This record gives sequence, structure tokens and C-alpha cells, in this order.
Amino acid sequence: MRIDLHTHSRVSDGTDAPALLVRKAAAVGLDVVALTDHDTAAGWSEATEAARDAGVTLVPGMEISTVDGHRSVHLLAYLLDPTYPPLAEELARILAGRSARVPVMVDRLRRLGVDISVDDVVVESSDAAASGRPHVADALVRLGVVRDREEAFDRYLGAGRPAFIERYAADLHTMIRHVKAAGGVTVIAHPWGRSRREQPDEAGFAVLKAAGLSGIEVDHQDHTPEQRARLRAIARELDLVATGSSDYHGTGKTQHDLGVNSTSPEDYRELMERAVDAAAASGRDVPQVSR
Ligand code: AMP
Ligand code: ZN
Ligand code: FE
Ligand code: FE
Repeated sequence: MRIDLHTHSRVSDGTDAPALLVRKAAAVGLDVVALTDHDTAAGWSEATEAARDAGVTLVPGMEISTVDGHRSVHLLAYLLDPTYPPLAEELARILAGRSARVPVMVDRLRRLGVDISVDDVVVESSDAAASGRPHVADALVRLGVVRDREEAFDRYLGAGRPAFIERYAADLHTMIRHVKAAGGVTVIAHPWGRSRREQPDEAGFAVLKAAGLSGIEVDHQDHTPEQRARLRAIARELDLVATGSSDYHGTGKTQHDLGVNSTSPEDYRELMERAVDAAAASGRDVPQVSR
């Protein structure tokens, strides 16, 4: 059984429509795939329907933009009720923050001599719940300013680069509690990816577990083999589920092909059991897995 618990469609910053992503997942031999677009459940119904036809199990999820102090943390959430008001309000605030930042980034780029408009960005995010930096990057590619998203982040959009603009993100601890109250389970996405410091450490994960965290994404392309071994040991020590996934973005990210990392059937089963418990405790109407 092959299980991939982290993918993005055109509903956020991936390049495949949700149904196409699901069909590709089936074609590469995945049995279970989670759709985890940034801060939105907008792709769930299309993906669920496609999964039924393709004979794969679709786990509805999302990757929520949060902060822990000053550190940006991506929080994977699965099988939650996205209409739970405190959570829905936070998601709306995050998406609004994304949209509000686009004109500011465009303005920065124009001051840097790049002839780009807000419309150039909006064209790239026509199917998305909101425009993110990757859509600005796609506009820069289309305009011939950079070769690919990677170069756009390196030159302009990455943290500390000249067109980088902060945006709103939700408090991590609050979000873990909201997702639990919404009947879902949470996993910290690529915790040690892209950052210089390996935080949270074991003590930090223990605090998050106490707040209701269910798992750690261990096998991710941004982690070295040594980091994966250490994160797996922390997960085992703290009784957190260890997941593995591709963080597929279609052609938007190289080396993140569907199924490039996967979650063991045992960890998957444990995560689903915790989701059943959270759903029962919440009393909310949560989505079911499609098979
Ligand atoms: P945003 O949420 O709009 O700030 O954009 C962050 C998203 O951009 C991440 O979730 C990644 O999907 C993508 N991203 C971040 N860094 C890079 C990079 N260096 N190259 C390509 N995509 C990136
Ligand atoms: Zn993304
Ligand atoms: Fe992420
Ligand atoms: Fe992601």
C-alpha cells in the first residue's frame, strides 16, 4: 500500500487541477493521496469525486500557514470540518492577507524595474483560492524575467529578498486546537526544512503534542537522511505519527514527484484512528475518506 499525504493542486499553488492530480496519483500506483492545498478546502469535492472514479482513497486536508513566535510553520490538517467558525475565520484572514500583499509585491517589483501588473499575477492564479508568491513567480517566468519559480524566489520573492512582503499567518498553538475542535488531526509539515535551526526540538514537539498535535512529517525532500532519522526518533519517543509525502506541486516544484516519499500503512492507520477519535470528541460533521 502506497500513501502520499501532502500534495497541492491549482486550487493553491500546484499546476494540476484536483481531478488530474488524483488521476496521476492512481497512475503512479498510489493507493491513498491527501490533497492539502494552502489554507483552503476548495479542491476537496472535485478531488473526492475523481478519487471514486480512479479507485484511490482521497484524504481531504489542507496546509495551514501558521507562526510560532517569529517562526513560520506549515501545519497539515486532515479530515476536519472546514466550516467550524473559529477555523473558517482564520482561514479567511490568511487568504485575505495573501490577496492584500499582491499589489504591494507588484509595486516593489516595479520599483526594481520589472514591468509587471497585478493582472499578470491574477492570470496565473485564476483557479486558486488566493494568489501566493508562487503565482507572482509564474508571472515573472511568463514575462521572461526569470527562468523558473526557484530563480524568482532566489532573486526577488524569498525571505530577505527585495520583493519579499510579510503576510498574516495564524498562531500555531491556536490552530492546532481549532483543527482538533473541528474534528480533524494535525501534522507539522517539513519541520526542519529550509530553516537554519532545527526547531522545534524534542521539547518543542512535546509542547505541541500537549496542545493536540498528532504527527510529524518526517520523510520530506527538504530533510536530509540524518534529519529524518532524528525526527523519526522524536516521533517514536513522543508517540507522534511519522508521515512521509511528496509535497507535489505539479511542474511548480522539481524533485517533488507524487509518491517520492510515502507514509507507512501503520502510521497511516494510526493517524486515521486519531482522526476518528477527534471527530467523535468534536461532535462535528467531518468528511469521510472516499473508500
Ligand atoms: P506564500 O505562501 O505565498 O508565502 O508562498 C509560499 C509557498 O511558495 C510555499 O508554500 C512553497 O510552495 C513556495 N516556495 C517557497 N520557496 C520556494 C522556492 N525557493 N522555490 C519555489 N517555490 C517556493
Ligand atoms: Zn505550496
Ligand atoms: Fe509547506
Ligand atoms: Fe506544501
